[in-house]
Amino acid sequence: MSDCIFCKIANGEIPSNTIYENSDFRVILDNGPATKGHALVLPKAHYADLFEIPEETLAGAAKVAKEVASNMKEKLGCDGLNLVQNNGSAAGQTVMHFHLHIIPRYSNDCQHILWKPTQPSAEELVAIKNTIVGE
Ligand code: 5GP
Ligand code: ZN
Repeated sequence: MSDCIFCKIANGEIPSNTIYENSDFRVILDNGPATKGHALVLPKAHYADLFEIPEETLAGAAKVAKEVASNMKEKLGCDGLNLVQNNGSAAGQTVMHFHLHIIPRYSNDCQHILWKPTQPSAEELVAIKNTIVGE
């Protein structure tokens, strides 16, 4: 994708703060970080989102995330860590090249990577389950 910023960053055409790289992935520091160390796992090949990325590449991204997260825990001393992956603008995706957020969390970071729980009835939950898996 010639006009995709993450393709250019992942393939080294645009400089980035790279914290990990292998033949298929580059992991960079997010330039608008939620917390200290917030990073993005970028596949070097272009896939828009979860629906496009092949299973093997997704598994590779998870493997890289685990390795980077373990390193962050040791080096940054974070107290927790969120993996976040947005698909579609309705879900908050702003760059349409698959990326996995690694967000180290600190007890005092005052961030809110949460949702407001709703209260569906038991019948509504069953109806949703039936819609997804079939009755
Ligand atoms: P999304 O909302 O699509 O899941 O996340 C996009 C992320 O990419 C945001 O956290 C944003 O700060 C980050 N981002 C967008 N453009 C750039 C860029 O050019 N360089 C870097 N390092 N991060 C970027
Ligand atoms: Zn791309």
